[in-house]
Amino acid sequence: MNVIGSSTRTSAACLFSKILTSPRARIKISWDIVCSKHSGLGSRQYEYDLVVIGGGSGGLACAKESALLGAKVAVLDFVTPTPLGTYWGIGGTCVNVGCIPKKLMHQASLLGEAVREARSFGWQIPDKVWCDWSRLREAVQDHVKSVNWVTRVQLKEKKVTYINARGYFKEPHVIGCVSKDGKEKTITAEKVLIAVGGRPNYPQIPGAVDLGITSDDIFSLKYPPEKTLVVGGGYVGLECAGFLSGLGFDVTVMLRSIALRGFDQQMATLIREDMERRGIKFIDECIPTNMQKVGKGKLEVSFKSVKEKQEVSKAVFKTVLFAIGRKPATEQLQLQNAGVDYNPETGKISVTDEATNSNGVYAVGDVLEGKPELTPVAIQAGKLLARRLFSGSNKRMDYSNVATTVFTPIEYGCVGLSEEVAKKEFSDNLEVYHAFYKPTEFTVPQKDTSSCYLKVLCLMKEPRTIVGMHFIGPQAGEVIQGFAAAMKAGITMEQLQDTIGIHPTTAEEFTRIFITKRSGLDPSVQSCCS
Ligand code: FAD
Ligand code: NAP
Repeated sequence: MNVIGSSTRTSAACLFSKILTSPRARIKISWDIVCSKHSGLGSRQYEYDLVVIGGGSGGLACAKESALLGAKVAVLDFVTPTPLGTYWGIGGTCVNVGCIPKKLMHQASLLGEAVREARSFGWQIPDKVWCDWSRLREAVQDHVKSVNWVTRVQLKEKKVTYINARGYFKEPHVIGCVSKDGKEKTITAEKVLIAVGGRPNYPQIPGAVDLGITSDDIFSLKYPPEKTLVVGGGYVGLECAGFLSGLGFDVTVMLRSIALRGFDQQMATLIREDMERRGIKFIDECIPTNMQKVGKGKLEVSFKSVKEKQEVSKAVFKTVLFAIGRKPATEQLQLQNAGVDYNPETGKISVTDEATNSNGVYAVGDVLEGKPELTPVAIQAGKLLARRLFSGSNKRMDYSNVATTVFTPIEYGCVGLSEEVAKKEFSDNLEVYHAFYKPTEFTVPQKDTSSCYLKVLCLMKEPRTIVGMHFIGPQAGEVIQGFAAAMKAGITMEQLQDTIGIHPTTAEEFTRIFITKRSGLDPSVQSCCS
């Protein structure tokens, strides 16, 4: 029997052939059909059932789940160093240069804030407290490396072959694997998953690539960044600006247009205002035009207004961090050899249920056109795809109502529609409830609560289904996660208002919300127990 794969599958195949004492070709063919039709495990014309190009969030999830279901799987992962020379291990963006190191640095910055606040709660703390960048960097990198190691162990345990090489298509089922030293080998697979994620963009201005850094460098930067210019006002820009400022560095953010485009703009404005109150400076509607060294550790940045199209100023920084978006790593894949269509402008791939237009070639994660670029999205899509490919499942990925949080110093979590989009979609059928609130933990240290605000968007028509929830405050990610589950289950405004809160928490504010924007009533802080 020509069936290769996991031990379970191989022993099932052996049993089958033993029972059928006469192993005729007819029987072999019918077994292969059973395998390929019902489990996705085809006859072994290829070395692997699945080859995954890209060992990040989506690729690893799909590889591990597929192996669990009996598929023979290989994962290729390769990190091209940044212009500064930074590189990292297996696990992709989230683990190495994204969510995880970002959350740890965010936490380090929140701890600084907490230490300062602790004085008002009676803690005796020296006047000068500061964060040692090199110790923080080491601690963060130690954790990242431990995750890299665990990932490799997991792959081994699950019998997934890990190949540390850059993959590209030679043919739809034939993958070239180029290792660091330039050696190349070829492997074949019945199914191929593209999960190569993306890398940060640099602007096309003199000095940017040689002198600037990106989020790929910041978490392992050998020196404290000190006075920093962050170019870009998306998730990455504002999050990096937030933690760097919280760690005590002088930070300026340069915006080409608005902060957090695509998010609810009332919430984005509150986030920006909070950052400004913390001392972060903003340069509006400008883009950099040139960068040059003007002394040891000094970078002069020239910039111009996007409106007047003329150079308005120059400023000197120690570090310039570009956070101007990311592009998918599809350029080197030679997609044309597999006949995979992609958008030449964005480099992204359109899929239907994660299947590309090329038979047997799939894609998940940040490479997908028009899908949220978030780790849990890539993971869920990868897992569900594996189940559809190898266990006959028909469960599809639902990309709607994905909750997200921007980890700025005061966090912003949301799920569902922004007020702008909801208004467009539902016009007069939209009700917006809102409130400012005062977290109990903000009272003793007398922290500014001007940006502590939440709103709920629901339909006017019964059953008044909720279509958006927005929350700014401490631990916004933790707050919004449970409400995302409620929204997935179709929660209505009445059900939310019938929910008994947990007191004293900030999440309970969602259950106390009663003022509509339409009423014109003052949404400012109500008493804690009203
Ligand atoms: P990736 O995780 O990027 O993995 C792709 C892998 O493929 C990489 O290891 C890459 O080196 C490798 N590769 C590329 N080309 C090849 C090739 N030809 N051959 C072999 N290997 C290749 N998301 C959240 O949900 N929450 C957050 O808080 C969050 N914070 C973030 C913070 C930052 C600074 C950044 C940049 C991103 C953040 N994200 C966050 C987004 C999240 O990291 C991504 O959505 C997620 O990692 C995408 O997973 P992926 O599998 O598509 O790709
Ligand atoms: P982004 O959200 O697309 O933001 C890019 C920013 O750069 C925008 O402010 C944009 O301005 C600006 N910009 C683009 N080109 C520019 C140029 N040439 N010059 C100056 N400014 C320019 O990209 P990102 O911040 O890199 O994030 C990428 C993705 O990673 C996000 O979509 C998100 O899904 C994921 N991510 C998630 C988290 C999280 O979950 N907490 C954190 C980080 C990243 P305009 O608005 O004018 O275009």
